[in-house]
Parts: sequence; structure tokens; C-alpha cells
Amino acid sequence: MTPGRRCLAIGGQPQASAKVSPTRSDRVDMRSRPPRIRPMGIQAVKEQRLAAELPRRLLAWYATAQRDLPWRRSRTPYRVWLSEVMLQQTRVDTVVPYYRRFLRRFPTLKALAQAPLDEVLKLWAGLGYYARARNLHAAARQVVTKYGGRIPRSLEPLLALPGVGDYTAGAILSIAYNLRAAVLDGNVARVLCRLLGIAENPKASATQTRLRAIAEALIPEGHARDLNQAMMELGAVVCTPRTPTCEACPVSGLCVARRAGKQRQLPRTPRRKPVPHYDVGIGLVWRRSKLLITRRPLDAMLGGLWEFPGGKREGDEPLEQTVQREIREELGLDVAVAARFLSCNHAYSHFRVTLHAFHCTSPRGRPRPVKSTAYRWVTVAELPGYPFPAGSLKIIRELEKHPGPPED
Ligand code: SF4
Repeated sequence: MTPGRRCLAIGGQPQASAKVSPTRSDRVDMRSRPPRIRPMGIQAVKEQRLAAELPRRLLAWYATAQRDLPWRRSRTPYRVWLSEVMLQQTRVDTVVPYYRRFLRRFPTLKALAQAPLDEVLKLWAGLGYYARARNLHAAARQVVTKYGGRIPRSLEPLLALPGVGDYTAGAILSIAYNLRAAVLDGNVARVLCRLLGIAENPKASATQTRLRAIAEALIPEGHARDLNQAMMELGAVVCTPRTPTCEACPVSGLCVARRAGKQRQLPRTPRRKPVPHYDVGIGLVWRRSKLLITRRPLDAMLGGLWEFPGGKREGDEPLEQTVQREIREELGLDVAVAARFLSCNHAYSHFRVTLHAFHCTSPRGRPRPVKSTAYRWVTVAELPGYPFPAGSLKIIRELEKHPGPPED
């Protein structure tokens, strides 16, 4: 990311003229229905003074309209990094308490680097996408060993850190260091597609390249921090996915989609595939007053978290059989399945599950994990000391109301 203003003619994109004489059929269209969207080429962006007008209006709006969020009060590189990682795929309201708790326990990058992974995952439990926490922890350790605890202020070393991609690197460089670097999250991509009338899929790699170049070119000298945050803020609170409030938008006068009345139709995203659903049988395996829990392998989904043993139902097998089969396969343990404890639904990013938890007993035998990296026998009171994913936390909350085996 080199400093200095960049020309808007970027990416070799076709540059449609903003002043095209209407053809006969265009004239008919304009009288009878809303005008067709004409994607604005980079040359047109220049001609229409978007590059000059948009930053000015956005910065003025952001100065008064920005939300008071905890990560905006102190923009140290560590805090910016942490907040941006937590905010990926996660709502602001959900992130705020996690962010505060995390910073109380790990106020500095060094404190995070020194902590055991289990403790980091424990503070992340319920926030989802746990690879973020594992990567953040690993990256913090690298920053301490390689850079003496100072987060790099250039792109290449940032991108070499675990879990840091273009978006996170751009956020650190621009928000923490105020260096010219684009941030292109879903909000910014949507805003740019609408402003410029870009009808392509914003997730396609060619469109991403194009949008990133535009986003970077729009940054006025010395205003990377505020301009990027203003773009993200506009997408989060005004130019929202389904109901953009164009009447409250500070840049509505520059917006191609609004002029064409197509703001709700852009950007065009491919239809989502149906989300699969699985039934999962779970064993609450009691031995006296203790329950069996196992730790997932680090390289698996939810890696490093603890869980109750169990797994996916095969075909239409009875769920009690699923529990017995899974525990035998995964832990070499025979269990007797008793009453159903609860069933609850949980959604992950690409599939949904219904968790069916059953009380089980296993008076003897030592678990021999096949994939799990550890197991423990723990009381219900000890469960909060372990990091569990959100689905398991639903079961734990119910267990805390009945903290013992069923006969108790
Ligand atoms: S005018 Fe409407 S569609 Fe255009 S940027 Fe503003 S909120 Fe989004």
C-alpha cells in the first residue's frame, strides 16, 4: 500500500461513458419503466466527481453519525485487530460483551500470547468460528517472537500471520495506523456496488479486485482511518442489505442504484444453496456424579473445544443407537442409553443440526479416543471451566438446573 493519492482509472475495467445519447429504445424504456442500470465506469466515476464528493460527504456524516462502540475509543493496533476479527460474520451486539471480557483478561497482545489456548477458547466460547480464536492466538505468539510484540505496519508481514487476510490487514493498516489500505467487507462491497451500479456478484474474485481498487482509490490523503470506517458504518446502518434507508443516506445524490430505483436489487448475489440439516445423537455419559467430555482435534471444525460424545445419525437409525454407535466408534466405550434429556436446534454457517441429548451410563471401561485429543470426567459444576461450542452450552444451561444423574 503506497501512500499518496491514486488515480481512479484502475483495474483495467471497461470505462463506459456517462454521457451516452439515448437510443430510440432507451427513450421508450425511460418513459414506460424505471431506467436500466448503467454500471458506472471508472472514467464516469471521475467525471461525476464521485471521488471528490463521496469522501467529503461521507466523512462529514461519519463525524456526527458514528455509533459509540468500545473499539472506537482506543485504536491501538491490538484492539483494532481483535475487534475486526471478532466482527467477522458476527453482529456488533453479540461482539461487544465478548470484546470487553477478552480485553479484561488479555489487555495486551503479550498477555494473549502467553495464555494457554484453552483459556482463549474459553473466552471465545459461544462466539462461533473458533478458527478465528486459534489463529489470533497463534498470530499473537508470532508477533511477539518475530516482531518483539509490535504489530507490523506493512502488508506483507501482516498477511503472513495466521488468519490475517486482505480484509484484516487492511483494517489494521488503515484504522490503527491510518495508512492508505482498502477494507472490503460485505458492507463496503454492497455500498460500492449500489453507488456505482455494479451488477456483478460482489464475491466473485474479479469483482473483489475491482471493488478493492475503487475502495482504495476513494481514500483521501490522511483519511484512511475515518473513510474506511465511514464506508463500513454506512453499510451497517443505512445501506443495509434488504432495506436501505436512502432518504437518510449522505451520498444518495451520487448513487446510481438509487437513481434507477434498483437499490434493493443490487448487488446481485447468486441464490443460496439449501442449508442441510442433521440429527445428532449426544450421550451424557454418567459415572457416579461425573460426566464424560472429550476435546475435539485442533484441525477439525470447533477444534480445541470440548463436547459431549456423540455424532450424526446414519439414515433413519434410532437416536439411542446413534449415541451407542458413535461412542463405541469414537471412544471404544459401551454405554447404556436411558432417558432423553433434551432436543434443541442449532445453526452453523453451512448447516443446521438438532442435538438430541440422552442420559447414559457406563459403569466401567476406560475411554480410548480415536480422534479426540483428550477426555475428562467432570461434575456439572466443573463444566464452565472448559470451552464448549454454543450448541453444547445450551445443554449445559439445562444441566445446571438438574446437576446430577437422572436417579439423583
Ligand atoms: S442511496 Fe441508498 S442504495 Fe445508494 S448508497 Fe445510499 S443507502 Fe445505499
